[in-house]
Amino acid sequence: MSTRRDELATNLDSVRRRIANAAERSGRHPDEITLVAVTKYFPASDVRLLAELGVTDVGENRHQEAQAKAAECADLGLRWHFIGGLQSNKAAAVAGYADVVESVDRVKLVDPLDRGAHQRSHPVEVLIQVSLDPPGATGRSGADPGDVDAIAAAIEQAAMLRLRGLMAVAPLGAEPGPAYSRLAAIRARFLSTRAGATWLSAGMSGDLESAIEAGATHVRLGTAVLGTRPRNL
Ligand SMILES: *Cc1c(COP(=O)(O)O)cnc(C)c1O
Repeated sequence: MSTRRDELATNLDSVRRRIANAAERSGRHPDEITLVAVTKYFPASDVRLLAELGVTDVGENRHQEAQAKAAECADLGLRWHFIGGLQSNKAAAVAGYADVVESVDRVKLVDPLDRGAHQRSHPVEVLIQVSLDPPGATGRSGADPGDVDAIAAAIEQAAMLRLRGLMAVAPLGAEPGPAYSRLAAIRARFLSTRAGATWLSAGMSGDLESAIEAGATHVRLGTAVLGTRPRNL
């Protein structure tokens, strides 16, 4: 009989193979790419199984759920990524458990994140989320590429935040390839002044190959690892 553990192991094998193949096609080493398992809507018991199966990084997008799960799984030594839209009144609390906050898209989040990291006495690694949607698109998340420098400068002033790079989500209903090519260009420009901020979090279950081709160092995989989410987003 197949258990949940078997199911997760099979899914992980398959995504690890996809990552390795995509890396190889792009002349990159698979070790350059970190799999972030997006466990939102799935129970802490799944997080535990994933840790047993070698997953080191997990992603969550809703504060309350993330906080509870991180507490329940505190013994596992995982790296917790916050990947969701962030309200400034929740930012300090998020820095209380997140090791990486990937979704910083405005200067206003920097102070509360820094404060939360201070309270916890634990530096937080930060990615700036850039929007790949056309300017003015509705439901746009992420900073305008033109605002990235100002946000980066604010993060660099914060004692407990470490600027690591950029994050993006491909626009819904469009080919990911051209969007990720734009992202690669935005990142090249960004790296010309911030050579140490080399992380690029891009790629989800449906498009990880094209994100890796565009230089992703972190892929955020939910469905391909855990299956269809129990509730719809
Ligand atoms: C849910 C989510 C993912 C994972 O999406 P899948 O298509 O299930 O792999 C990745 N990134 C963000 C920001 C998400 O909210």
